[in-house]
Amino acid sequence: MIFFKKPEEPSQVSEETKDLDKLQERIQNAQLPPAVSSVAMKELEKLRSTDPSVAEYSIGINYLDFLISLPWNRYTEDNLDLERAQKILDQEHHGLRHVKDRILEYLATRTLCSLQPFRILVVDDEQIARTNLEYVLRKEGYEVDTAENGLEAFEKVRKREFDLVLADLKMDKMDGLQLLEAVKKISPATETVIITGYATVSTAVEALQKGAVHYLSKPIKLDELRKLVADIRVKRRHLQIARGPILCFSGPPGTGKTSIGRSIAHALGRKFVRMSLAGLRDESELRGHRRTYVGAMPGRIIQEIKKLGVKNPVFMLDEIDKVGQDFRGDPASVLLEILDPEQNNQFVDYYLDVPFDLSAVMFIGTANMVEKLPRPLLDRLEVIEFQGYTEREKISIARNFIIPRQLREHGLREKEIRFEDESIKTVIREYTREAGVRGLEREVATLCRKIARLYLADPSNKEVGDITPEVVRELLGPPKYELEVAAAKHRIGVTTGLVWSEVGGEIIFVEAARMRGSQQLILTGSLGTILKESAQTALSYVRSHAEELGIDPDFFKDSDIHIHIPAGAIPKDGPSAGLTIVLALVSLLTQRPARRDVALTGEVTLSGRILPVGGVREKILAAQRSGVRCVVFPERNRPDVAGLEEDVLLDLEVVFAGEVTDVVDLALLPRS
Ligand code: ADP
Repeated sequence: MIFFKKPEEPSQVSEETKDLDKLQERIQNAQLPPAVSSVAMKELEKLRSTDPSVAEYSIGINYLDFLISLPWNRYTEDNLDLERAQKILDQEHHGLRHVKDRILEYLATRTLCSLQPFRILVVDDEQIARTNLEYVLRKEGYEVDTAENGLEAFEKVRKREFDLVLADLKMDKMDGLQLLEAVKKISPATETVIITGYATVSTAVEALQKGAVHYLSKPIKLDELRKLVADIRVKRRHLQIARGPILCFSGPPGTGKTSIGRSIAHALGRKFVRMSLAGLRDESELRGHRRTYVGAMPGRIIQEIKKLGVKNPVFMLDEIDKVGQDFRGDPASVLLEILDPEQNNQFVDYYLDVPFDLSAVMFIGTANMVEKLPRPLLDRLEVIEFQGYTEREKISIARNFIIPRQLREHGLREKEIRFEDESIKTVIREYTREAGVRGLEREVATLCRKIARLYLADPSNKEVGDITPEVVRELLGPPKYELEVAAAKHRIGVTTGLVWSEVGGEIIFVEAARMRGSQQLILTGSLGTILKESAQTALSYVRSHAEELGIDPDFFKDSDIHIHIPAGAIPKDGPSAGLTIVLALVSLLTQRPARRDVALTGEVTLSGRILPVGGVREKILAAQRSGVRCVVFPERNRPDVAGLEEDVLLDLEVVFAGEVTDVVDLALLPRS
C-alpha cells in the first residue's frame, strides 16, 4: 500500500512561521545576555525544522516564551536613605529595637559597600587605545587604571580588587582569554569584557563561555561602551547590597519575622516575595525539571522571579529549618547554592538550562529554631533573634497596629469603634496562648467581622461602638484558655514545669504514680530520647538519695513507677524537664502536695546538681501567660534573668537553685 502524505495547508504553515518570526523578534528585543540570546536563537532554529504536531514543538515554544519573559536585566532602583528606612521600620512595627538596629546596621554596611567607586582596569597593548578608553571612562566618573598586557594586568588584579577588566583579545605574553581565566580564579567577583577585532567573533563566543560578561567589537562604539559599563555598574551595585552574610530571622511564630521582611523591602523600594520550605522533599521543587517531558516546569525560585518581573526582590525563604526529613541530597548545600551571593550568580534551574544570576536578590531566611540547621549553613547565616512578646507589648501592638488595620480591612471606622485595654487583655488571656501575636490578630479579625455585621444591622447600637470585655466574650464565645495554673489545685505527684520549643515557651505538667509491680519505669506522653533519659536519671537520683529526701529507701522494691507528661500528641524532648520530674517523684514518695503555681526548669545530674537551661525569656513569658507566680531556675541562669527587661518579670518571683534539695521545701507543701 502506498501512503500519500497529506499536503500541508498553506495557511497553517504560514501561521506557525509567523509565530516563530514573532518569537525571533521578541528574542532580539528582549536584551538577553549574549549567552542566553545565543541559546534562544539555537532553540528557535531547531523549532523551525520541527514538525509543529510533535510534543517537542510546543515544549520548545513554551520554553522560549518563558526564557524571554524572565527579567534578565530588570531591577528596581534601591532606595538607600537610612533615615527613611528607620522611619518605615518604626511606622510598621512596635518595639523590636534590637532587630531594627541590626537591620539598619546591615543596610548601612551594604550601602557603604555599594557606594565604593567603580574601578576599571583597561588592558591593551596599544598605547593610544588605552589612553582613549581611559579618557572616556574617567569622564563618566569611574576610577580607571591601565595595563599594557595580560601579565601586568594580572599582577594589578592580584594587588587590589577591580570591578571590571576591559581586555583586548590579542596581546603578547598573556592574551585576553588567558587573562580572563586567570582573573576568574583569583577574583571571581571581577567582571571581564573582551574587546575583539572583526575577524574574531567566534573567539568572542568562547570568551562568553569562559565567563566574560560581554564582548565589544572594534572599532568600539562609544555609546555602546558607556551603556555596557553603566549596566555592569548597576548590576554590581545591586550585588553589593545583597552580598555579605545572609540574614536569618529566628524565633517563635507570630513575632513579626515576615512582616519585618516586608518592611525591609518597602524601605529599600524592592519587591517582596515569600516562599515556605516546610516539608520540602526534592531539590527539583526549587530547581525545576529538565525539559524532557511535556509537563516539565521551572523550579519555584525562578517562577517567582518571573512573576515579580525584577531581578532584585527581597526573597524570604520561610522555615528553612523545616526542610523535609526525607530530603533527597544535602539540603545545606542546595540552600547555600541558592542563598549565597558568592555561589548563586550562576544558579542553574534544570528547566531553564542556562545560568540565571540570583546574586542581586536579597534572600532572608526564617527559622523557628536555628539550632536545627546544618552547621555549614548556620555558619554562613547572620541570625537575628525575634522573641516572644510580653502582655504589655501585645497590648501596644494590638492597639497601634492590629486593631487599626483590622478595622480598616473590615470597613469599620476607628473613631466609631473603641477597644478598652481590658478588652484587649481579655482577648489575649482567654482566647490566645502564644508567644507571638498571630492568634491575637486572628481573634481581632473575628471580632471585627462580627462587629461589622452588628453595625450594619443597627449603626446606633451603643454596644457596638464600645468594645468592653463583656462584649468580647459575647462575640467570641466561651473562653478557649484559662489561667490553668492559678485555677488548679495542689496535688501529690503532679508538678509544673517550663519547657521551650519552636513555638516559644510552654508550661507542662509532670505526673508520677506508683503501683505494685516489679521495678519498672513506665514513661508515656510522646517523650524523646533525652527526656526519657532525664526520667531515668531522676529516678536513680531519688533512689540513691532516698533517705536524705525523707523517702523509704525500699520504695521501688515491689513497685512500678509511671511518669506521664500529658498532651501526648505533642512530641517533647530536651533535658530541662529533669527538675520537674524529680520533684514529681519526691512529691509522690513523700506524699507532700506539689505547688501548682511554682514552675520548675533545670537539668538534673545523678548527684542532684541543677544545670542551666536555654530559652529563659521565653519560659518566663510562658509562666506569665499561665498565671504562674514563682519560677525556679538553675543558679547558673542568674545572669540570663538579670539581663531581662522589667516588663518580662512583672509580678513574678524568680528563685535560683543549685541543688535539688534547695527546691524541695519551696515546691512542696508539708504533708497534710
Ligand atoms: P512570623 O513571620 O514571625 O510568624 P508575622 O510577621 O507573620 O510573624 O506576624 C504576624 C502578625 O503580627 C503580622 O500581621 C504582623 O504585622 C504582626 N506583628 C508582629 N510583630 C509586630 C510588631 N512588633 N509590631 C506590629 N505588628 C506586629
